[in-house]
Amino acid sequence: MPNMSLKKNEMPSQEPNVRNKNFREVALGYSSEQAIDEAKRCLNCKNRPCVSGCPVNIMIPDFIAKMAEGNFEGAYQVIAKSSALPAVCGRVCPQESQCEKLCVRGKKGEPVGIGRLERFAADWHNEHVKEAPEKPRPNGHKVAVIGSGPSGLTCAGDLARLGYEVTVFEALHTAGGVLVYGIPEFRLPKAIVQKEIDGLKEMGVKIETNMVIGRALSIDELLEDGFEAVFIGSGAGLPRFMNIPGENLKGVYSANEFLTRVNLMKAYLPGSDTPIQHAKRVAVVGGGNVAMDAARCAKRLGAEEVYIVYRRSEKELPARAEEVEHAKEEGIIFKLLNNPAKILGDETGSVKGMECLEMELGEPDASGRRRPVEKQGSEFVLDVDCVIMAIGTSPNPLIKSTTQGLETQKWGGIIVEEETGLTSRPNVYAGGDAVTGAATVILAMGAGKTAAKAIHKKLCGKES
Ligand SMILES: Cc1cc2nc3c(=O)[nH]c(=O)nc-3n(C[C@H](O)[C@H](O)[C@H](O)COP(=O)(O)OP(=O)(O)OC[C@H]3O[C@@H](n4cnc5c(N)ncnc54)[C@H](O)[C@@H]3O)c2cc1C
Ligand code: SF4
Repeated sequence: MPNMSLKKNEMPSQEPNVRNKNFREVALGYSSEQAIDEAKRCLNCKNRPCVSGCPVNIMIPDFIAKMAEGNFEGAYQVIAKSSALPAVCGRVCPQESQCEKLCVRGKKGEPVGIGRLERFAADWHNEHVKEAPEKPRPNGHKVAVIGSGPSGLTCAGDLARLGYEVTVFEALHTAGGVLVYGIPEFRLPKAIVQKEIDGLKEMGVKIETNMVIGRALSIDELLEDGFEAVFIGSGAGLPRFMNIPGENLKGVYSANEFLTRVNLMKAYLPGSDTPIQHAKRVAVVGGGNVAMDAARCAKRLGAEEVYIVYRRSEKELPARAEEVEHAKEEGIIFKLLNNPAKILGDETGSVKGMECLEMELGEPDASGRRRPVEKQGSEFVLDVDCVIMAIGTSPNPLIKSTTQGLETQKWGGIIVEEETGLTSRPNVYAGGDAVTGAATVILAMGAGKTAAKAIHKKLCGKES
């Protein structure tokens, strides 16, 4: 008998007023009983609408059916056929706009908590199954992967499983891409990402950190060194600024720098070698997931007041609804329909405030969202000592500028053939944020998979 409750089993979480002072994970995960109860809400629909909402086509009703029987390892095995990073995706995927959006239970009530169930199955596996993955037989082919974010790790994992000798070249000193330097510990514990990376290493994937491709070695040199194909998964880590007066003042960060200091360099730990400003009043400019993460980190670092300054209204906030809700619960103040005009400094060159203008929404623009228009004479000063710019990122131009014949869009995204990820250079593939601009973990993983498949077909003439 299915469980016909209209509501999902609630996710046990740390209390807002406790969690906004620590960096431990906010969501605590279902118990076995809650997982089984939630799994029983699935109707095992014949036409499986949820599957078509998943960019990597996880066989959702199949894994949920195993969960409902209490066969958690069986559930994990179903997910693992399609997703290389289920413990990550179960935590950070925007399920509400993907699989759960199409779930029939969502028509009358809340959809099945697919993401929460995925997380449970992956955590259960990681806790209970200790066998090392089988090392595949080498097939004699060598592939280089640039970048160790979700696109690079997925491409590397899929190829390693097929017997390729894969080397991942990562610019930073730690592998994981945005999963380690961007998304904070309280949303995605770094031990989980490390476990996934350790699994790839056990399968034979080599990871060379501190290797900036385009500086230490070029793509042409990799191809000359015997790598038969290269996958570029270098992300979109170049921060944008607003080009308003005062952006050079002390106390202005890009969200990338701020989050890297906090997450990768663990600046929040007492005794950390990485300095970070423990500001009292912080303005975070932007309304996406990155802005929410930066604001919630600033709060945890001890700021008394943290503002999200966003030029449109709540309806247009690009961040996941759950992240916005969590931020509000933790005391983040939303200054919506406001836009910064300049950042004000004191005599020491440090931030002492931010002049903003009120906005109203006009006609829709090219993005389909209503264009924000300044209200004349509405200037006011927000009293802050730190400003974090979270208004977007684009791909770093280094690889483009050091790889002859690699075609890119005007804004820097690498141009690829959609079905294969092949770039304008033979045997050079690309995917993830380096191609699309800032997007999502699951789309980056999907692109890594597509390229791995195409590389296998090219080098071995086989379908994977
Ligand atoms: C703060 C933040 C929060 C986010 N939250 C979410 C979320 O909740 N859910 C979600 O789905 N998505 C989220 N995203 C987006 C998601 O993380 C990205 O879309 C995804 O990580 C892109 O994966 P990728 O593999 O293309 O690139 P990345 O994860 O950016 O990895 C690229 C890697 O390549 C390395 N690299 C770059 N240039 C070179 C070079 N020249 N040589 C060698 N290595 C290089 C970089 O150091 C990096 O490690 C978030 C992003 C940020 C910044
Ligand atoms: S749409 Fe919802 S109820 Fe139907 S199979 Fe998928 S998860 Fe289950």
